[in-house]
Amino acid sequence: MKVTGKLLIVGFGPGSAEHITERAKEALKESDSIIGYKTYVDLIADFIEGKEIISTGMSEEVSRAQAAVKFAEQGKKVAVISSGDAGVYGMAGLVYEVLVEQGWKEESGVKVEIIPGISAINSCASLLGAPVMHDACTISLSDHLTPWDLIARRIDAAGAADFVIALYNPKSGRRTRQIVEAQRILLKHRSPDTPVGLVKSAYREREQVVMTNLQEMLDHEIGMLTTVIIGNSTTFMYDNKMITPRGYQRKYTLSSEKQPLKPHERLKPKNEPWALHEGKEEKTDLYKVGMKALQLLDGKKTTDSQESPFKQKIESIFEVAVSPGVANKMFSADQLLTLSAAVGEKGAIEYTPHHQMILRVPTESPDVLTTKLQKAGFLLSAIGDVATVKACDFCDGEKKDAIPYAEQLHERFDGLDMPKELKIGLNGCGMACYGAVNDDIGIVFRRGKFDLFLGAKTVGRTAHAGQPVAEGIEPEALVPLLENIIAEYKEKGHPNERLFKYFKRVKKIQHFDYRDMEPKINLEPAPCGD
Ligand code: SAH
Repeated sequence: MKVTGKLLIVGFGPGSAEHITERAKEALKESDSIIGYKTYVDLIADFIEGKEIISTGMSEEVSRAQAAVKFAEQGKKVAVISSGDAGVYGMAGLVYEVLVEQGWKEESGVKVEIIPGISAINSCASLLGAPVMHDACTISLSDHLTPWDLIARRIDAAGAADFVIALYNPKSGRRTRQIVEAQRILLKHRSPDTPVGLVKSAYREREQVVMTNLQEMLDHEIGMLTTVIIGNSTTFMYDNKMITPRGYQRKYTLSSEKQPLKPHERLKPKNEPWALHEGKEEKTDLYKVGMKALQLLDGKKTTDSQESPFKQKIESIFEVAVSPGVANKMFSADQLLTLSAAVGEKGAIEYTPHHQMILRVPTESPDVLTTKLQKAGFLLSAIGDVATVKACDFCDGEKKDAIPYAEQLHERFDGLDMPKELKIGLNGCGMACYGAVNDDIGIVFRRGKFDLFLGAKTVGRTAHAGQPVAEGIEPEALVPLLENIIAEYKEKGHPNERLFKYFKRVKKIQHFDYRDMEPKINLEPAPCGD
């Protein structure tokens, strides 16, 4: 016998016509009979005029599903309706269960089509702001068919794992204690001020949206038509909107267009210390060294603390370059211990071609870290497109005359925002053995005066030293001159344009003329990685 009947399991969304999908409307149209809970049938009355309607009470789901299967087997097209999505605490599973009981097979049995709809977690979230955004779960508090013990365990697990939680069926006339219990369990894991949104009858006539928190949520009306959305430990309220951050602020600066990490850097393990790979290509022993150092410094045993999740604020990676001083190049043993303690298990130390130690440390409070580092005698410098001042060691201080100037330059220019990183190097004698002439701005101290070099190209096959532009600059003229050069470059340099490129483009910085310093043979351009 050819089977012509069909079961259309239709989720019609929250209840408003605009939020019913096209396919759901068609499915209702092509059905001969509509089976569903009375309230739902009323909600979609406009789409089912003239159809045979079998509406039943709330608790008669099994007989609804059986009736639907029976009618379909008689050759009818039967729409079984659920609010939201039929596969979320809806009729889809139950219809399949009835079919399975009868030994139904897709090939030979009645056709079944499940038509997805917008579930309450989504419709309610849209009215609250963006509370879901991240890993979330739904838990139904109805213990009519599920043992409370199991529900309680799920609430506990979801709370501990910091899921955003949507509670369906939170309360009814008879079931009033479940939501109280749920609140009690969640307060073990989350702060009392965790944002909570209560949405009643989303996109229906008597829609109600209440913003509250975990502590106070029971002071508001919660009923059969309410979905309770509980934020995770990072969810916040802003202007009556409930927002769960997606995590971008770990890697991006949301308030500025210019991002600290360039696109190609964002997926590097070192920039994702929170990932499974812990920011490392291979696990190192840094953590152990760090913990040991901490113990040595504190004189006491330090253990991993098991903080409850709601105390966890959002970590971001704090980047800073450290050095023992402008002229001092010696790290003390204590300083190294402080460094390894500071980077700990998840941080990293990178030694750069510019003689910089860059620390990358995931932290909620950079201030605590910088204070610690400064106390240990470190000089801290910003990373990125900023000016940095480095000097030679002045032959271990023997040629110390220029040290105060180096410190003055550091004080004045280090960390200033620039179109591109700007390395300022100061060397204490004409040997310039720390390579000041290979910096963007090179300054060489000689017999009480300064020589100036501008626009070195430090990398690539066409690298060249900076061009000597002035000799014998008087000490008091040095800072004003540098101020003018740096201000000009800052103002007129294009973003990402290094000083040598700027010099080449404008042909004149202040009153210094550009001279071509590039190699005179033809070198093919060789991009990164070539
Ligand atoms: N299949 C439905 C869920 C049915 S269980 C879906 O996917 O949304 C019934 C529960 O769903 C209610 O107790 C309530 O918690 C939630 N719910 C359904 N429609 C809702 C609406 N319009 N507004 C708020 N909550 C709703």
